[in-house]
Parts: sequence; structure tokens; C-alpha cells
Amino acid sequence: MRFFLDTEFIERGPKYPVTLISIGIVDARGGELYLVSSDFREEDCSDWVKANVLPYLGKSPRLPLSDIAVLVREWVDLQSEGSKPEFWGYYSDYAWVVFAQMFGTMMDLPKGWPMFCLDIKQYADSLGNPKLPEQGKGEHNALADALWNKDAYDFLDKLESTRGGR
Ligand SMILES: [Mg+2]
Repeated sequence: MRFFLDTEFIERGPKYPVTLISIGIVDARGGELYLVSSDFREEDCSDWVKANVLPYLGKSPRLPLSDIAVLVREWVDLQSEGSKPEFWGYYSDYAWVVFAQMFGTMMDLPKGWPMFCLDIKQYADSLGNPKLPEQGKGEHNALADALWNKDAYDFLDKLESTRGGR
């Protein structure tokens, strides 16, 4: 099963850990998961995050990272129905760090899961960087971004198949 993920996170340079704020995951059938962390401090956020991310977190209850990790693992395994999950993000390098760190280290990722995330940006680049669908409302909300990731992937997949790429 293909999963599209997005995270919002705190990034403050090399002296501070990259810290998860929220995560959205959408599966290939459109199932949705959205969770907000209680393990970050708003005062640690940059002015940009305070202006562009925090106001759009929504009213979801905030959960400790360890609880988020359990819910993500259970949900992904349930949606996968025994198949190996495949994760896709958009400019996803930092998202993958905070994703893996929910579980501890990269080595602690759930058994059977890939230890890498595929990137829609690389997929687009390989197809000559076509103009991707507009996102519209909700940019920088992790669930809205994850939903857009699925749209962008579906667009590229269709484009590749009409070009006879596979
Ligand atoms: Mg985002």
C-alpha cells in the first residue's frame, strides 16, 4: 500500500533537534490519519512556523510522540492489509527524519517497513518538472499537504503512463 505523508516540524539549525509538530498520512484509497504532538514547545518555533503552521494545526488533541508512533504503526499496518507499505513525501528528507525518530532511531522503524521515503519532487524532476496541481487552501497543515501529495503523485503517475513510461 502506498502512503503519502507530510509533517510540520521545528527546524533551527544543527544545534537543535528537528522536532515533529504534526503529521498527516493519506493512503492510496484516501484513508486519512492526522495527529498533533504534545512534545514540542511553541516558544521553540521560528517566527515563520508561528505564523504559518501553528494557526492551522486544528483542534486535534495533542498526544505524546510515543502515542503518535503507536497510532501510526497500527493504522499503517491496518491499511496495508499485509502488504509492505511504501511511503511518499514531497521534499521529504526532514519529514523522514522526524517520522523515524517517533520510533526512536531509524533502526527502530517497525519491522517490515522500508527505511526510506520516496520523494514526489524527485519523481517530478525525473519527468521534466511538469507543473503540478494547485493545492489551494490548507498549505502547511500536514493533512492538507498529505492530501495534496496524493494528488501530485496521481498526476505524475498518469502523466508517466500517458507518455508510455511504463
Ligand atoms: Mg507541510
